[in-house]
Amino acid sequence: MHGGMQFTRQYRQIMTPIGSSSDNLPHWAGVFNDEMADFWSGEVVWNGCMAEYTTLKVGGNADAIVFPMGRNELSLLIQGVRKINVTWIILGKGSNVLVPDEGIRGVVIVLGRNFAEIERIKSNNDSVSVRVEAGCSLASLVKWATKHGLSGLEFASGIPGTVGGAIVMNAGAWQREMKDVLSQVTIMDVRGCFRATKAKDMDFTYRSWGQGRGKVAVEGVFQLKKDDPGRVSERCKEYIRLRKERQPYKMASAGSFFKNPKDSEPAGKLIEDAGLKGLKVGGAMVSPIHANFIVNTGKATARDIIELMHVVQEKVQKKFGVGLEPEVKILGGA
Ligand SMILES: Cc1cc2nc3c(=O)[nH]c(=O)nc-3n(C[C@H](O)[C@H](O)[C@H](O)COP(=O)(O)OP(=O)(O)OC[C@H]3O[C@@H](n4cnc5c(N)ncnc54)[C@H](O)[C@@H]3O)c2cc1C
Repeated sequence: MHGGMQFTRQYRQIMTPIGSSSDNLPHWAGVFNDEMADFWSGEVVWNGCMAEYTTLKVGGNADAIVFPMGRNELSLLIQGVRKINVTWIILGKGSNVLVPDEGIRGVVIVLGRNFAEIERIKSNNDSVSVRVEAGCSLASLVKWATKHGLSGLEFASGIPGTVGGAIVMNAGAWQREMKDVLSQVTIMDVRGCFRATKAKDMDFTYRSWGQGRGKVAVEGVFQLKKDDPGRVSERCKEYIRLRKERQPYKMASAGSFFKNPKDSEPAGKLIEDAGLKGLKVGGAMVSPIHANFIVNTGKATARDIIELMHVVQEKVQKKFGVGLEPEVKILGGA
């Protein structure tokens, strides 16, 4: 259990959130506070604006956004919200999600910097096993691996997510994916129980970890090869340079919006060949730089993005007979 002083401070924060009256709290706020009282030390933001937690910068408020301070707190939290029948979702850096304008009912659990330990656990002649918590950003992990002269994660340079999000999405680039460097993943189930699973026994496929809903990636163990830090750094820099050249990195987006279809040209090529580069709905636009990026030009709503997504899907279907499936996760059932 955490210290009383700290808890008292947080409890006050929960009960009287800055900038909102208690009228704005969901009806379950009181019972949630009671359920959390004995263990919670992390932050709680009531009626938090989800646009601030996603790279597309759209979306309404979530009833509560919470930041657990470690795996035990996460487990107790999941058990607590389950007991009071409140829905929850996990979020990393929000770089592959679209939050509807209506927001999200229930609790958004953000795994971030309080959940971001990196630890070297085993080393032999040419390889090293590294345990990394889910909230660690890929950027921090790549930087750490580079500094320690460990190769394998260069492909992830410039992917703006957390390790947990990258495992769940089996994030990849340059013909490499997370599954290629993972040896083990610790998964938490809906009851808050942990289980370590060998990566080779998981059903990783293109942009999916195959574990279904309600599971949380808590940490991963990566197998990295010893290398010269300078050479690792050069490869990372080259991948970043290519991204900056080929992607609209200065604009708000969620990366590639659609999955590349099987047995067809890549989604970006199909969208470009359908003449859709630069197409706009409200503030959402098909990027003129990379057609598989839907960007927020500044004032887009989630509705704009969803409408544009439908137009792109219809036009590509009509022209090429190919159905495009979103890679971006549309949260809240919009
Ligand atoms: C500019 C840009 C470039 C990108 N380039 C690439 C690329 O090259 N390759 C690529 O694959 N992706 C790319 N992406 C997409 C995105 O960065 C990756 O999918 C990333 O791995 C998502 O991580 P996240 O922490 O942001 O996940 P989020 O967007 O926060 O979550 C994504 C999904 O995973 C779930 N989730 C997140 N964390 C966990 C967890 N610990 N346990 C269980 N579920 C979880 C969420 O509920 C959600 O359904 C890009 C995005 C942007 C904005």
